[in-house]
Amino acid sequence: MGDELTEPGGGLRLYVEAPLGDGESVVPDSGQTHYLLHVMRAKVGDRLSLFNGRDGEWRARIAQTAKRSCRLECEARTSPQHEVPDLWLVFAPVKKTPADYLAQKATELGVRVLQPMLTRRTIVRRVNVERMRANAIEAAEQSGRVSVPEARQPIEFEKLLERWPDDRSILFCDEAGEAPPILDALRNTPGSSCAVFTGPEGGFDPAERAALRALPNVIPVSLGRRILRADTAALAALAVWQSIKGDWQP
Ligand code: SAH
Repeated sequence: MGDELTEPGGGLRLYVEAPLGDGESVVPDSGQTHYLLHVMRAKVGDRLSLFNGRDGEWRARIAQTAKRSCRLECEARTSPQHEVPDLWLVFAPVKKTPADYLAQKATELGVRVLQPMLTRRTIVRRVNVERMRANAIEAAEQSGRVSVPEARQPIEFEKLLERWPDDRSILFCDEAGEAPPILDALRNTPGSSCAVFTGPEGGFDPAERAALRALPNVIPVSLGRRILRADTAALAALAVWQSIKGDWQP
């Protein structure tokens, strides 16, 4: 009577754009169809989980298969829609660690928005946003999220700050040394909407540092005395934030 389709680490989960609900039918995209039929060798009656970022997670069964298409039918909701904490990652892209990797890890760490930022010393000026989004979707499927972070187009530092929302604090990872330890800084700040900012290989330049520190809602933080690679700093800051302000608390 059909099996639970499983991948390493648990049941197969797919992100779809279509509405999910009692009796709703979903036709997966061509890539997903190929994966289901030819990689997972799914058969009519097999089951998997679907989520779309709006309707929670639904168990679905494979209702019909053809050579290059299949139709899934929603059976029951297995998890309500819930949001990850209101945490963004604003990062200057760096060489060697593609934004894809950072997108995957930051998705697992529960960010809502992935915002590449182009600063004066940023060497990598182009980001493949479509590929970053595909990595975020895959990480959301694997990590059990029922939402996918928004992968945004790169934006210049100045432009980003021009229109920065007053109600979102900036966790400014400042390696220059005069910032308080992140643990103390986070413990003493109220509120929850936050964005972790990390600079490029050459760090923020003095004007950028001054512009950030002039903002009312900036929280400069140190991640210790060692200089971390930008992606290490981003993931470390996200982890500390989640453990103090986020959903790592029971
Ligand atoms: N300018 C640095 C290198 C920048 S590291 C140098 O002296 O060589 C890239 C980014 O990672 C920095 O802009 C900062 O956002 C973050 N970062 C790295 N180490 C950090 C630390 N110990 N504390 C806070 N932020 C750090």
